[in-house]
Amino acid sequence: MHRILLLLLLTTPALAWNHVGHKAIAGMAYDRLTSTARAKVDAMIRQHPDYANWLANAPSDEKARARHAFMQAAYWPDTIRGDARFYDESRQNQPATPTLAGFPDMKRRTNWHYINVAFSPDGTPFPPPPEVNVLSQIRVILSAIGAPPPAPGSVPAEQDPTYLLPWLLHLVGDVHNPMHCTSRWKRDQVDPKTGKPWSDLGGNGVSVVGAFNLHAFWDDALGITDTPAYVNGVVHSLRKKGKQGRKIVDPQLWVDEGSRIAQMVCYNYGTDGAGTKESPAKLSEAYIMQSRTVARERAALGARRLAAVLNARLQ
Ligand SMILES: [Zn+2]
Repeated sequence: MHRILLLLLLTTPALAWNHVGHKAIAGMAYDRLTSTARAKVDAMIRQHPDYANWLANAPSDEKARARHAFMQAAYWPDTIRGDARFYDESRQNQPATPTLAGFPDMKRRTNWHYINVAFSPDGTPFPPPPEVNVLSQIRVILSAIGAPPPAPGSVPAEQDPTYLLPWLLHLVGDVHNPMHCTSRWKRDQVDPKTGKPWSDLGGNGVSVVGAFNLHAFWDDALGITDTPAYVNGVVHSLRKKGKQGRKIVDPQLWVDEGSRIAQMVCYNYGTDGAGTKESPAKLSEAYIMQSRTVARERAALGARRLAAVLNARLQ
């Protein structure tokens, strides 16, 4: 039982920025959209089959309501992981759930959230990233968003911009979380199934004191209080950050930056604890302070770049 639970925990794909992070990035991006782009995203969001769910607890003012729905949409790809209407097509023997109106299918697409470009401090061999990853999917989505609206039935339904827009909001956030860009491989870190050296799955396999694991520590680095007041406070605190590099709109460079930061900062947690279950890493006060600074800078950059790519495509 224990072993099964551990396997499940280790193989559950990484989430990435919690509610607060994704909503704050989307809120900051929304505030930077041109009026034309904003009108177009508002129209697309209203057509999404789950739009009604995004209005829960929304303010009554029309503009604030549209911004609220946009921010909720940015977190939607994580909410469907726990939604019984959807199924995890990456797991064996998972029957497909019935396709509901407005959706191309009910796949959870859990492999879209990260790329985990590998590195190894001890020369352990590692494979290239999987073919479908956050970078490949951001590229696919960017080419679909802003293209002339397809005639019904003329393109595969999974290329429908209405379906893809929440994914773009979400994935541009995810790719700006360094722990979604990198995995560390080590000889003494083995796959419980095969006993061979293995990935730490974007830090999900690194135990730390005071958090579920290293990945989760970074997911929560912008705070954990999921209330509109708190999230808007985070948006406010980000408004002067993320200026350097904001014009970089090549997603490959976003991944390169994230991988570099993960190796230099996120994995640089010192030697107080091995990062194993038996000996979790103890993060120093200096590391925790730096993580907050880095997370805010990445989130603000993600928001500015998200606004930039939407403004460029929705003119
Ligand atoms: Zn995600």
